[in-house]
Amino acid sequence: MSFKERYVRTLEQVAACCEAAGRDPREVRVLAVSKTVGCDDVAAAIAAGAQDFGENRPDMLKEKADAFPRVAWHFIGNVQSRRLPDIVSHATLIHSLYQNTHFGKCNAAAEAVGKVQDILLEVNVSGEQSKSGLSPDEVPQALDHCMSLAHLRVRGLMTMAPQGDRAVARECFERLAHMRDDLRAGMEFQKAEAFNELSMGMSEDWHEAVGAGATIVRIGRALFDDGFEELHA
Ligand SMILES: *Cc1c(COP(=O)(O)O)cnc(C)c1O
Repeated sequence: MSFKERYVRTLEQVAACCEAAGRDPREVRVLAVSKTVGCDDVAAAIAAGAQDFGENRPDMLKEKADAFPRVAWHFIGNVQSRRLPDIVSHATLIHSLYQNTHFGKCNAAAEAVGKVQDILLEVNVSGEQSKSGLSPDEVPQALDHCMSLAHLRVRGLMTMAPQGDRAVARECFERLAHMRDDLRAGMEFQKAEAFNELSMGMSEDWHEAVGAGATIVRIGRALFDDGFEELHA
């Protein structure tokens, strides 16, 4: 199967999932996670209609965003302070911000290039040691901090679910959705308007995420890896 076939089929499946959940398919963006592929595959993906791409390393983000400036590049990887200027220069949306020391640095990097940086706060909903992100009780304070910075715009929350159990993943996604709704209810109108994104769900669990309210699903292998389907059928 070609990327295009996998992509079209994925979009159809996302639409079907939305319908089953009583949601409008236009609420969900499919982010093509291109971190394991080169520029040829990205070019094919753009030709197939993909508009949003995710990278987890600043150097690859820069390389691909420079090569393909007309599509949106999202940063979904581990943030390091010294790489923030590079990330901010190229990322439409940073999904993986959560460390206190990074908020001010991200704001300064955005100010330096004259932009307002859209960000998501990463939340470790499940509390797994291996996962990064804010613990749920740290989110309100981090959110207040980010919202006080003029060059950051907080667009929502991001999480990664534990792997291997779809029911556990579903619960994790539902908790993130509730968290977003609760936080939103306490915001002034303009901030609440912008704070509407839920980045959750990957190749193996995006169905659960869409059912729970995801607005961005981050899909790598199911789009770019021809062997994925057979493995997970
Ligand atoms: C790699 C990655 C993805 C995509 O994972 P797949 O299982 O290949 O779909 C999504 N989100 C993050 C943060 C990633 O690092």
